[in-house]
Amino acid sequence: MITFNELALSEEILKAVGELGFETPTPVQEKSIPHLLTSSRDLLALAQTGTGKTAAFGLPTIEQIQTEYNAVQAFVLCPTRELCIQITKDLQSYAKYKEGVKITAVYGGASIDTQIRALRRGVQIVVGTPGRVLDMMRRKALKIDHIQRLILDEADEMLSMGFKEELTGILAETPDDKQTLLFSATMPREIKNIADKYMKNPLEVTVGKKNAGAENVDHIYYMVQAKDRYEALKRIADINPNIYGIVFCRTRRETMEVAAKLIRDGYNADALHGELSQAQRDQVMGRFRQKHLQILVATDVAARGLDVTDLTHIINYNLPDEPGTYVHRSGRTGRAGKKGLCVTIIHGRERNKIYQLEQKVDKKFKRENVPNGQQVCEKRLYNVIDKIQNVEIDDEQIAQFMPVVEEKLSELTREDMLKRLVSVEFSRFLRYYKNARDLNIIAHEKPNRSDRREGMSGNKRDGSGYGSKHYSDTPFTRFHINLGRNNNMTPQRLMGVINENIRSKKVEIGKIEIMKKFSFFEIDSRYADKVTSGFQKATFDGEQIFVETVNHGPHDSKGSRESGESRDKFYRERSSGSRGRSRGGDRDRRPGIKKEKKYFPKNKKSRGK
Ligand code: AMP
Repeated sequence: MITFNELALSEEILKAVGELGFETPTPVQEKSIPHLLTSSRDLLALAQTGTGKTAAFGLPTIEQIQTEYNAVQAFVLCPTRELCIQITKDLQSYAKYKEGVKITAVYGGASIDTQIRALRRGVQIVVGTPGRVLDMMRRKALKIDHIQRLILDEADEMLSMGFKEELTGILAETPDDKQTLLFSATMPREIKNIADKYMKNPLEVTVGKKNAGAENVDHIYYMVQAKDRYEALKRIADINPNIYGIVFCRTRRETMEVAAKLIRDGYNADALHGELSQAQRDQVMGRFRQKHLQILVATDVAARGLDVTDLTHIINYNLPDEPGTYVHRSGRTGRAGKKGLCVTIIHGRERNKIYQLEQKVDKKFKRENVPNGQQVCEKRLYNVIDKIQNVEIDDEQIAQFMPVVEEKLSELTREDMLKRLVSVEFSRFLRYYKNARDLNIIAHEKPNRSDRREGMSGNKRDGSGYGSKHYSDTPFTRFHINLGRNNNMTPQRLMGVINENIRSKKVEIGKIEIMKKFSFFEIDSRYADKVTSGFQKATFDGEQIFVETVNHGPHDSKGSRESGESRDKFYRERSSGSRGRSRGGDRDRRPGIKKEKKYFPKNKKSRGK
């Protein structure tokens, strides 16, 4: 194992590294730093967050900055505002003793004028998020045509957040002779394509296995009926009194609901989602980082950039649509050499997804039983006893109260006293779990109706219609809704949206068809009114939802269908009022791609550098 002193870094940088408490380089640092200090060959690094990748590119970059020049020499592009701020802070701390290094962050959701002024004062390193960077480039406030090093951090996240066009637009503006560094936790095909297209013979550095989750994360899953998800979550929280974890949900609404229930039930929890203002999110994240919150219920987008190293649990309240998202979620635990646990709650029809994930992370998932009431109570009891054993007693302070305490409790036997003491904290668990049900379902058990509903959805994204088979003879009413693939709608999500808005789990949902800009779904006709009233003020990602019955037109009540195209045409006008869903609030604002294109001449050479 080498030390930082052997890495040919200057005294100034070593001093800063020492102050940060870094003793030996992490594997990604050991592989990248010597290369970056001596070679201009590109670097493709497969490394998760938490592996020390910021210092891997940051230390050599700071080392090489020529402080006498005030032009942008290195440019870091990353997916979120939080990560952007974090990287900037890290780089500033590495540069603490090297005078004259100027680093600035440009990200959405903050004053562009302040950022432009910072750029105008002259900087050598810019860290930015794609949308704001493009905006700055359009305004000619940011020039990156002379950079020597381009760093794409969390490249897979940038693509999964839909920044592909921004990325290619920005890449087109960078000089050909720069050195490109690409850091990614996973290696999906799109990243490989970007590497092939924009990088020259890169040195490949892999920390851990390709596409693999963190080495020291164990993956377990619980199988319950869909309706028992929340109950299962509570038991997980109850049996782990010292839990410090993130519960991932799929939608903002689900995030809010789960967090609200946890708070109501006395847990130390809060929600993090895109509907919160930046200030509110900063506050929630701050409380979580300081461990004033034990459980953070979050959407994937909102949790991006939240860098916490010692989480005990990642809980998938729902599985994400993309296996890559699971890898990112699970990579948030098991950091800095610690053991981590990624827990997933599934229903009977989702087992095949677990098999896919096992292949993706190259690890076996262990099925465990949701603890029963007795197990939870036992654990809580031992926890209370541990607390009693380890509590610090301030003899001096308490002495004055002891005579009263002794007098009041003098009647009690030792046994009575112990029982009462333990019951102070423990009774609510005993009460709650007195007749607790077994939540586990056995693998071959036929899923109940609500499971079937979820199971029908699968992962298909085409509009070919899911669940075309009805499970009963129920008469259905067909509805049109102004959410479609453009809103990232899937059959599963749509079922979530329906269930949320009609607020009744008992209603049977029939056929679902997802089209580009809208969708169709069927509902047990007895509940058709519930749909109309339930959706009246409903929104999806900030957009008003419009739902109406379909009695005629492209799909008649007898089920004769026209092609998806003609239906699309029929409804296009009605849906045209609904724009594509606005992405999570933590995503920086994306300037219009079409407009932006005219600012980037196709032929770079004609710009005369
Ligand atoms: P990163 O992957 O860059 O987000 O880094 C994850 C965490 O590891 C951060 O809190 C860093 O400060 C810390 N870190 C980075 N390099 C080292 C090192 N060589 N030794 C100890 N901690 C480190």
